Amino acid sequence: MIGGVPISQLAQQYGTPLYVYDEQYLRDMLGTYQREFRSAEFETGVLYASKAFSCKAIIRLIEEYGFCLDVVSDGELVTAMQAGYDCKNIFFHGNNKTMNELNLAKQAGVGTIVVDNRMEAELIRTVYADAAEPVHTLLRVNPGIEAHTHQYIVTAHVDSKFGISFLNEEELIETIRILQSGNNVIFDGIHAHIGSQIFDGQAFAEEIRKLFAFAAHLKEDYDITIHTIDIGGGFAVRYTDADSPIPIGEVCRMILNTASEENRKLNGQIKRLLIEPGRSIVAEAGYTIYTVGGIKKTPNKTYLFVDGGMSDNIRPALYQAEYDAFLAGKENEPAETEYTVAGKCCESGDILIQKIRLPKAEPGDLLVMKTTGAYGYSMASHYNKLLLPAVVFAKAGTSRTVIRRETYEHMLSLEE
Ligand SMILES: *Cc1c(COP(=O)(O)O)cnc(C)c1O
Repeated sequence: MIGGVPISQLAQQYGTPLYVYDEQYLRDMLGTYQREFRSAEFETGVLYASKAFSCKAIIRLIEEYGFCLDVVSDGELVTAMQAGYDCKNIFFHGNNKTMNELNLAKQAGVGTIVVDNRMEAELIRTVYADAAEPVHTLLRVNPGIEAHTHQYIVTAHVDSKFGISFLNEEELIETIRILQSGNNVIFDGIHAHIGSQIFDGQAFAEEIRKLFAFAAHLKEDYDITIHTIDIGGGFAVRYTDADSPIPIGEVCRMILNTASEENRKLNGQIKRLLIEPGRSIVAEAGYTIYTVGGIKKTPNKTYLFVDGGMSDNIRPALYQAEYDAFLAGKENEPAETEYTVAGKCCESGDILIQKIRLPKAEPGDLLVMKTTGAYGYSMASHYNKLLLPAVVFAKAGTSRTVIRRETYEHMLSLEE
């Protein structure tokens, strides 16, 4: 069961492949962040990084819990607007915001823009010169932290495309001065995001120390006073038994304690502390249900084919990500066969799980992949013109569609 609804019933009612979220699990994660990321010393804020899974239903849930929202494109911004989300609480990220996106942000009343580079700061100053309301800004800095994760998801090595490196001080100061000189532009502080699926708490502690030290440096040497530090997201989740992420409550307390220690050196200058979890809010709540089709033996492998693949989950092909899965209704049978779970896309790389021991599978079985709630639907593609699956929320024995399954008409609706 997921959310109290039998998996076979979900498959029958909505078809497969199907993304299902355990809504109570989502709520529990949000509740944990709400309870744990709190402090007497700082004004704290949790920003949901909507790129992990962006749709109206999740954004309404985010609003219900009083969280802010990260967007990185006009599409994510419009989704939030359509969900009725208060744009004042939106933080607009991205390393190359277009003029169109900045104008849309201005029109919508987006509260904060996280500025990536000097040219962008100039653009923002121009766009907001005649704005009805001022916009807050944070500057994305690159503190140069080596977090041990896949190279595609580290974001703070010296040559990262994101933010301005601490090694490039002149550019940093110039960019801040541009923001400070803008009409209707308010410069609040700095932001960093050091990567994703990070298990090492020390990487975050080191990041925090570097950001606070930089705040002190700005004050002492440039007379620039900041009051906000945003340390980004990247908190790890459990995909397989090999993963043992630090519980979120512990991560929150470690962040707050480290920040508090550092703030003492600054005589309490930093007033507001922000974090930006994406994956850790939605990943473990999500499952993908597939129907097993063919089973094929090659000299060294037994393939188990499913009715989706890299089109609904690109992460194994893109990052060598690993997943766990089970056959619904066969949990008590011995896991005696080693399978390679493959999708139906025309790529040899379309392998969802390289090696997994499962009970003997038959066509028509339901294979359920766990922890697919983050960067699954949001990275889905139309490759091979597979239709985008539906997304369902299940809770307390009932389920509801939050994104309908795509139809042929919809898929072809843009074609002349
Ligand atoms: C992707 C991203 C996040 C969220 O990362 P997770 O690993 O999903 O927690 C937060 N902040 C920024 C700027 C990001 O790009």
